[in-house]
Amino acid sequence: MSCLRPNIAQMAGYVPGYQPPDSEAWIKLNTNENPYPPSPQVVEAIHRELGEKGDSLRMYPDAGSLRVRQEAAALYGFEPSWVITANGSDELLNNLIRAFVGEGEEVAYIHPSYSYYATLAQIQGAKITTFGLTADYRLADFPARYEGKLFFLTSPNAPLGFAFPLDYIAEIARRCAGMLVIDEAYVDFAEINALELVKQHDNVVVTRTFSKSYSLAGMRLGLALARPEVIQALDKIRDHYHLDRLALAAAAAALSDQAYLAETVGRIRDTREWFSAQLRDLGYTLVASQTNFIFASPPDRNGKRIYEGLYSRKILVRYFTDPLLTHGLRMTIGNRSDMEQTLAVLKELG
Ligand SMILES: *Cc1c(COP(=O)(O)O)cnc(C)c1O
Repeated sequence: MSCLRPNIAQMAGYVPGYQPPDSEAWIKLNTNENPYPPSPQVVEAIHRELGEKGDSLRMYPDAGSLRVRQEAAALYGFEPSWVITANGSDELLNNLIRAFVGEGEEVAYIHPSYSYYATLAQIQGAKITTFGLTADYRLADFPARYEGKLFFLTSPNAPLGFAFPLDYIAEIARRCAGMLVIDEAYVDFAEINALELVKQHDNVVVTRTFSKSYSLAGMRLGLALARPEVIQALDKIRDHYHLDRLALAAAAAALSDQAYLAETVGRIRDTREWFSAQLRDLGYTLVASQTNFIFASPPDRNGKRIYEGLYSRKILVRYFTDPLLTHGLRMTIGNRSDMEQTLAVLKELG
């Protein structure tokens, strides 16, 4: 296939976290899914949209996602012109690169953070720069003026789980000549968010997902908040019917049931704090988490040994072969019973 673009020929492609076909047989703590079902109002809204015979599916959905954007705008204190919806926040990350970074131009992100940024940059033929982290979780060697076109800042960070303080993110925004995209996939589990920076800085975009806190990974829903000029650019390049009718109904219902979100997120945070304390008692080292997962290292700093021990007991967690991360594991916080069973196996493994 000599006509294939060389960057596509050379790239490996993204490898998603493993989804076992017999998922019922596993305690699945490897892809940060939510252990609780989505809000009952979401399920009702999907049934209502579908109707008795699925008649609504004959017709195209609202290409502008107006109801969802109005709902999100009211919730976050913005005008709907500052909001765009997406087929998962991955779609937004993709379209942000397409809109702002030409072939050969530069994209940056933190190492370690979300590995999909690299795949998207490779597809675009962009140049990649990564910034490491200092011991106190600041960017190592970040220049006074960063000239790249776009910087992905995952906060809270995945896979480590810490969040950057807001004044530090604001400083990074000022130092970026290009766009600063704050990937807030886990922010509903955190104490702070960066929404106010969207209003204060021309170059800041915040992306959110419904996959984690809203328990809708299977529905594929995300959204972004940014200045109307940025939203308009993203609107031009997206697929016009990117969200189906059921997803639109689900998104509006999920956003409108904040009581359910607070209740389920609260339970996950409580379980996270309990499980973290238990692991510390076992001698594990943990990064204090602002997310629905923890990154934890066993006393012998052999993440692979623990991964394999858990795997043999049908408990699936995430082990990374990146040398910066082999000393530990990323474990999603499931329900209390999931974590009690996991803890019991970890005690056996020593
Ligand atoms: C899960 C995740 C996403 C992707 O979310 P989707 O909405 O499911 O596409 C983006 N960024 C980070 C850091 C994530 O962990």
